Amino acid sequence: MRETSKIWMNGELVDWADATVHVGTHGLHYGSGVFEGIRAYDTERGTAIFRLTEHMERFANSAKLLYLDLPYGVEEMKSASWDLVGANGLPECYLRPIAFVGYGELGVGSKGNPVEVAIMSWPWGTYLGEEGLRNGIRAKVSSWERVGANVIPHVAKATGVYLNSMLAVGEATRAGYEEAILLTHDGYVADGSGENIFVVKDGVIATPDLSASILPGITRDTIIQIAQDLGYQVVEKQLIRTDLYLADELFMCGTAAEVTPIREVDDHLVGPPGPVTLELQQAYLDTVHGRSERWSQWLEYAPSRTKAA
Ligand code: PMP
Repeated sequence: MRETSKIWMNGELVDWADATVHVGTHGLHYGSGVFEGIRAYDTERGTAIFRLTEHMERFANSAKLLYLDLPYGVEEMKSASWDLVGANGLPECYLRPIAFVGYGELGVGSKGNPVEVAIMSWPWGTYLGEEGLRNGIRAKVSSWERVGANVIPHVAKATGVYLNSMLAVGEATRAGYEEAILLTHDGYVADGSGENIFVVKDGVIATPDLSASILPGITRDTIIQIAQDLGYQVVEKQLIRTDLYLADELFMCGTAAEVTPIREVDDHLVGPPGPVTLELQQAYLDTVHGRSERWSQWLEYAPSRTKAA
């Protein structure tokens, strides 16, 4: 992680080195937190944060699902993000809002501990590598199941859930693959350790539906809308692992990974990035970088810029 100048913490901008917590922090012991991953892109009109409102709405929903009382609303979190982007002066960065149960009681069901909220920002390049973005990655179906809907609410982007992702991606990379694909407890395709999955077969695009314990990805929603606008049929349905092996094209998408083709799953060759994947990847990258007007409604600019425009 490249250090930047400031971190927004509990309502103020503090120096990077001062954004610390006590070792008795509840969230550190039990994963009692929620977070977001957001990208800000350098566009011709200045820095744009991609779908900032939806990310902060999901942040609020994640907190609600964990019964966390967030001291800041969506609008305050949005404006804090802009303050931070301005303070760090980076035209392009990754933003990481986080809220967690703070220091106080250490019983699991702690009541009355403060909920701490922070936003970090730093430059983060391609998540699965330039080579992966261009030529596709090798993925492995994990022996770890995705957490079930009645284990932890999968609709919440909760910090504790990422132990599940960490085990899966660790297993995959130790075995020489670049990313893991997790299945549900009954064997349906869920998502990657930090991405949603898309399958292209006979010209139709399919992706697991919400009942497959997936995180409702904002990039997933973006890709579904772009694909439909481009005339593709997109179906949200249950997929099994052989759908991955026999796909014409496969890709994963997420804020960090953007649109990353998958060229192999469990040593089954799917192939180099295909035409549908490449078209969607191009449309997505053109949109986030402000090079395409067609879906420009998703780019949010600093409040003063919006007024001036
Ligand atoms: N699934 C999981 C498990 C994730 O962690 C992420 C990243 N937040 C995604 C999917 C993709 O979500 P988004 O497009 O909103 O970044």
